[in-house]
Amino acid sequence: MARKTGLSLNYHEPAQTFLEGVLARGDSSLGPVIEGAWRKGARFDGWSECFNLDRWMDSFEECGIDPLQYTIRERGVGEHFPWEIIDTGVSRQFLLAERERALSGTLTPDCRDAECSLCGWHESGCPAMEP
Ligand code: SF4
Repeated sequence: MARKTGLSLNYHEPAQTFLEGVLARGDSSLGPVIEGAWRKGARFDGWSECFNLDRWMDSFEECGIDPLQYTIRERGVGEHFPWEIIDTGVSRQFLLAERERALSGTLTPDCRDAECSLCGWHESGCPAMEP
């Protein structure tokens, strides 16, 4: 059906998407899980013909980690996020304010056309602010 309309439809297997979500939002405690899955034979898991979720779920269980805590659990506002060790220049305070704006359906003006929104870059020399 999609072929007739000229559309191309790509999708991921839900089990692979689930694992990607866990690894993307996970922290250093997932190291032993990854090693455990590897020891059970996990290789080239980005290829659906090689992927086996059972290896991963067994490894999660052996490490005493519930993978759902990384995916469906809502994160607390005061919680430390594993990726915060990476300094992107955009402040946590700004991102939390953006979250509130998104939840209320409020748009932040594009700073290329409007005033600076003080995203955090202004403190480290934002190139957009240069005359
Ligand atoms: S002008 Fe620079 S510092 Fe201000 S919101 Fe835009 S990117 Fe951030």
